[in-house]
Amino acid sequence: MTEKVFWQDPYLARLETRITSVTGDEVTVERTIFYAFSGGQESDDGTIGGRRVLLARKDGLELVYRLEPGHGLKPGDPVTITIDWERRYALMRLHFAAELVLELAYRTLESIQKIGAHIAQDKARIDFDWGENISSVLPAIQTEAHTIIQSGQAITSAFSDEINEARYWEIAGFARVPCGGTHLRNTREVGTITLKRKNVGSHKERIEIFVSS
Ligand SMILES: [Zn+2]
Repeated sequence: MTEKVFWQDPYLARLETRITSVTGDEVTVERTIFYAFSGGQESDDGTIGGRRVLLARKDGLELVYRLEPGHGLKPGDPVTITIDWERRYALMRLHFAAELVLELAYRTLESIQKIGAHIAQDKARIDFDWGENISSVLPAIQTEAHTIIQSGQAITSAFSDEINEARYWEIAGFARVPCGGTHLRNTREVGTITLKRKNVGSHKERIEIFVSS
């Protein structure tokens, strides 16, 4: 099983490891810092052994990386993994911003239901099943989120179930939130957030989240 170093140290952008299996264009590695799309957070961009990763995917608890055809790697080969740090850090900041907005939305609008979420490099979004225009609560959520961000709280992220690789994050004043993403160390790193409402259908409200420093 691939050791997910991106959980122990989400700030690592380079790692030495070894190829463990090769199936055509797809490889697995002993240890990895390269996140594969999960929980709404997009995959990293980067290279394995100098070859561009075209697709990173989860296969159960295993992570599989598709490289360009003719990569020539064999099991046991030592390789360096690199990731696009600018992209990863943007994803981490937007991920935590989205988590915070979601928790505050739950507190503000009691019966609201999340129906989807996506974290990309330029923005994050959360979709809700909600029959009213959500824009009236956005200023309050944004203000409250900034208070938490600026308080510079430590963000804890750890296993709730190590065998099944279930993770959570937690900050003071909130319940533990199950999440397998890569998380910041401190709320202050999120920076300034901007929220925008989008109506994406009947009974469907979207909050778009942007961060700037
Ligand atoms: Zn999450």
